[in-house]
Amino acid sequence: MSNFKICTKCHEAKKALEEFYQCLGKYRSECKSCTIKRNVKYQRENKTSKRYDYASRRLYMRKYYYNNKLKFAQYRAEFKKRYPNYYKQYFKKNKKNKNEEQKPLIKTSLTTCIQHNNNQTNLKK
Ligand SMILES: [Zn+2]
Repeated sequence: MSNFKICTKCHEAKKALEEFYQCLGKYRSECKSCTIKRNVKYQRENKTSKRYDYASRRLYMRKYYYNNKLKFAQYRAEFKKRYPNYYKQYFKKNKKNKNEEQKPLIKTSLTTCIQHNNNQTNLKK
């Protein structure tokens, strides 16, 4: 009878050598078919749970954003109220930088040169 082992899962007495996997020289407590069943079930659950997680996470994020939309808007409004010139200055600065970038450097130096010369000739006159 030592060749038989009772599976802890299905509680069936099965031939240990043929029906049970061995792990580190010892038979596992569950039979092969139960192990396979468990693995298949685990894999299937894992797959579906991953798919479920992905969908639910997306939904959660969407929900989170929707629920906090007002909060974000309030925060922005409060920030604007507290720093009314922040955005104005920011845009002004950006606009200025953009304009400066758009100006060709040689032209600017040339015009200042001409202006400088004009000033000098004006002074001479
Ligand atoms: Zn079993």
